[in-house]
Amino acid sequence: MTEYKPVTEIQLPKFAGIKTFMRLPHLQVAEGIDFAVVGIPWDGGTSYRTGQRMGPDAIRRVSGTLRPFNPGLDVGIFDHCAGVDWGDLTVVPGYIEDTYARIEAGLAPLVQSGVIPVALGGDHAISLPELRALVRVHGPVALVHFDSHTDTAEQYFGRPYYHGSMFRRAMEEQLLIADHSVQVGMHGTMHTRDAWEESKSLGFDVIPMQRLREMGLPAVAEHIRQRVGGQKTFVTFDIDVVDPAFAPGTGTPEVGGLSSAEAIELVRGLKGLNFVGFDVVEVLPDYDVAEITALLGANIVYEFLSLIALNKIDSR
Ligand code: MN
Ligand code: MN
Repeated sequence: MTEYKPVTEIQLPKFAGIKTFMRLPHLQVAEGIDFAVVGIPWDGGTSYRTGQRMGPDAIRRVSGTLRPFNPGLDVGIFDHCAGVDWGDLTVVPGYIEDTYARIEAGLAPLVQSGVIPVALGGDHAISLPELRALVRVHGPVALVHFDSHTDTAEQYFGRPYYHGSMFRRAMEEQLLIADHSVQVGMHGTMHTRDAWEESKSLGFDVIPMQRLREMGLPAVAEHIRQRVGGQKTFVTFDIDVVDPAFAPGTGTPEVGGLSSAEAIELVRGLKGLNFVGFDVVEVLPDYDVAEITALLGANIVYEFLSLIALNKIDSR
């Protein structure tokens, strides 16, 4: 019987072998698993640096060092759940609508089988077809969005889709439960004073970095949990919410972000929410230094898997 868990260090040293996420088996099965890590190597939605198409590869490459027990959440991931590395979805370079259709169709067999997709981006534009695939099965979901940016722009050169507009599109398409959705960590320079207000007028709760600093991390985590409640939840983590000192390998960096430790703490603070999907986006290895951004991306995914495992314990 296939075991849907990582190869151990005793079986094979962690620097050896072909790189799947956390050395999970690379299999496209949807039965008998709780989650699937899925690469989405797309960067046609970017507005500044490109190269996020190499993000899934970079995250997988460093993820072999992750060990199955998470002391921060006191959980052994594979004691409670099973998962695979599904591999990468097909994208159509240069054609965002075609790519969106492929991503939505590519995730469908997982979502329909009750598997939680954990996507490795790719630029942030991929979150829209992920949401479409999830909502088709689950109905509208709550969004927990970590980012420097709200990604709720009206359009880009007259076009509806890029990595800065998908959460406005998601609201328009009624993919999100506005009253239970929250955007966290916004900072950096802005086009106009009212950019965050615009996001609020769409229905989002917005917690900019300055307010996050005033509240403190435990209070922010509690606020998010209250806001989301028991709703089915999609968590999207744009790595640019983390300061470029910790995450230089990204497309649209903004100074004054979270530290990597703070990012991990915030994600752990989501414990107990009713998760249906996750992604980590905007890792851009060409601008990375010593793989620190990719390593942080891998660790954020690791925390997501730990949250899934904790829910499995609680559901018994
Ligand atoms: Mn973003
Ligand atoms: Mn961003």
